[in-house]
Formats: sequence, C-alpha cells, structure tokens
Amino acid sequence: MNDHETILAGLDAELDWIRDTYLDLHRHPELSLEEHRTSKLVEEKLGAFGYAVTRVGGTGVVGVLENGDGPAVLARADMDALPVKESTGLPYSSEVDGVMHACGHDVHVAALLGAAKLMADGRGAWSGTYIALFQPAEEVGAGSKAMLDDGLMTRVPRPDVAFAQHVMPIPAGTVATTAGPVLSAGDSLKITVHGKGAHGSMPHMSVDPVVLAASIVLRLQTVVSRETKPGNFAVVTVGAINAGATSNIIPDRATLLLNIRTYDTQIRANVLAAIERIVKGECVTAGSPREPEFEYYDQFPLTSNDAAVTEKVTAAFTSRFGADAVLHASPQTASEDFSRIPDAFDVPYTFWLLGGVDPETYRAAVERGTVAQDIPANHSPLFAPVIDPTLGLGVQAHVTAALSYLSEDASG
Ligand SMILES: [Zn+2]
Ligand SMILES: [Zn+2]
Repeated sequence: MNDHETILAGLDAELDWIRDTYLDLHRHPELSLEEHRTSKLVEEKLGAFGYAVTRVGGTGVVGVLENGDGPAVLARADMDALPVKESTGLPYSSEVDGVMHACGHDVHVAALLGAAKLMADGRGAWSGTYIALFQPAEEVGAGSKAMLDDGLMTRVPRPDVAFAQHVMPIPAGTVATTAGPVLSAGDSLKITVHGKGAHGSMPHMSVDPVVLAASIVLRLQTVVSRETKPGNFAVVTVGAINAGATSNIIPDRATLLLNIRTYDTQIRANVLAAIERIVKGECVTAGSPREPEFEYYDQFPLTSNDAAVTEKVTAAFTSRFGADAVLHASPQTASEDFSRIPDAFDVPYTFWLLGGVDPETYRAAVERGTVAQDIPANHSPLFAPVIDPTLGLGVQAHVTAALSYLSEDASG
C-alpha cells in the first residue's frame, strides 16, 4: 500500500460519524455569521483529533496539525446556511424554520472534518502541516474577510497551497476541476441619481429621475453588448429600480441596484468604469442637479484556479478515482469568497466541484434534456445532495489533494 491507500483505508471506519455529523448539521442550519453551534461542533471535533484549534473571525475555526518538515496545506470549508424554507421532505430536514443548508455547506464541513481525522490518524504517512479552516458567512461574501480582519494571517502558519470544494448539481461520484476562472467575480452596486421633484402636472418644473433611471437601464445594456469583446464574459443585471410612490408626484431621486459578474479583473474594471461613465453621462444629459452616488456592496472576488496546482491535483484525483470520475468543470457564474484567503497569503489555490446528484437521476435528466428543470440546484428549497457517495468522495478529495503535496509518493 502506498501512503494514499494507507490513509484512505481508514475511511470506511469513519464514515458513520461523518454521516451522523452531516445529518446533524443539516437538521441544525445556521445563517451567515451566526454559525455558533456549528463552530462549537467543529472546535470539539478538531480538538479531539489532536489539532491546535483557534477561533478566528467570530465563528470561524482553524485547526492546525503540525507534523514535521514539509509544505503547509490549507483546506477550507464554509459553514453557513441560507434563509430558505426546506421542502425536500427528507427525514433529516431542517429543524429551523426558514433556514436550510440549501447550498451544501453541511457537506463541506462534514467532509473536511472527515479529512482532518484521516490526516491526523495517518500522520505517519506524510509530513508537513495540515490546516483545516472552517469559514463563516460565505453566502454574504463576508466570512473570509472577517477571518482576515481578525488576524488570520498572523495566527496560523502560512500555507504553500490552498484548496476548497463545493458540492454542485453534477453526478455524485465525480469531481470537476478546471484551471483558470471557475467562479465569477461578483459585485453589487447601489446607484442613486438625483432629480428635482415637482407636481405630476408640472413636469416642466422638474428634473424627472424616473425618466433618467429608465434611460440609464437601457443604456447599461450596451456595456456587455457594445463595449465587451465578443466571447468575453460579463453580466450586468439591474435587479431593482425604485423611484416615487404615487402617480401625481415627480420624485427627487431614483435608486438602481445592479449585479455584475466577470471572470477577469481587467474586464471587471472596464465594466465598472463603463457603468459609472454611463450613469454620470445620463445625469448630465438629464440636467441632474447633483452628482450620482455609487455604493458597492456584497463584493465577491474572482476565483481563478492556479494552473500548476490544478494540474497536480487533477492528476492525483485521476489516479485515485479513475479518469471517468474526474470531469472538466466549466466556469460557473456564481461567486465565492474563498479566494480572499489564498490571495491574502499570496499563495496558489484550486477550487473543485463535487458531484451531489444521484447518477441515474442525472443521466435520465440528460437524456430528456431537462437537467435545468429537473435537478434542483444550489439555493433551491429542494436541493438535496445524495449522501453516498458524495460525503465519502468529499473526504477522499480533500485527503488526495493534500497528500499530493504532503506525501512522498505524491501522485500514488
Ligand atoms: Zn450558496
Ligand atoms: Zn455555497
């Protein structure tokens, strides 16, 4: 047996408590920045496994296992749930009304705890440092920043490489990797434009912010269609537009809420600059009495996987799970805040996708051409990853990725 096999041979004996932990987490979801029960559970388990445990960023927990010379590997799981009312009908459904692990972060926590246990039990077969990081508040893009603001970089060893995984609506029993952008950068933007209020019967006395906002919405459609090179990816969505309250009053301002997604920092900068330029220009055209205001919020960094790390981890996955179980991930338009942590340490990372859909169900939906309609995606009240083999593969993926850096027979 090589090092990988020695360590992963222990998985079967651990699967019961890993599964119980998953069921427990699923029944007791906690919203972003309120992961108190979850972080306590994580702390207790990591402590029992022999990790040095630190609280960072409120409900964030980091376990460090120093095990001789060698690189340091950081693996991250997010812990928060969503304000979604579960309607899966599963026997282990959420017991918290209106809160649900609808994004599978319970899978991530249980799998990383399992990996942490196997790494601790198998410490004779590798050397270096294993850092298991449990992050709060991914869903609101605040958790990794909270941990960094609370001194994460000085409180744990500097990693050489970082990993994260996310359960997704692809077949269970598979993982999917890709080099380069895998998740988009996400920005939310509140724009306030100013007009001049007047009676609805006296438009000549006004600067009408409703007309101004309407022309901004139309003109913004050209940021992607006319200013972004065909083939490059960008999304500009106006998700809300608010002005006025009644028919016979012209209001004095309008607000627009935008959501922007990009895979490239230069394209992102260009898109944001174009939006601001168009808004300012339309305000001048309308005779707006004041400069518009721009307020950015809920910002998510780009998740762009390092090519060399991804190649190494993909090779390890392929060797361990077989070529059929390792898919090529297409970039997702969703966003994540994991990359802030490796970016802060200035270390490379890879973020892979973990299949969670029963393979037969998936295959049948593909045959019908109804994957989008029939397979509940993340954030759906029906999101329900199958426990087997998802959890076990999630554990193995973390261990395999870590050992590709920490063990002698790295690709074994
Ligand atoms: Zn989510
Ligand atoms: Zn998620």
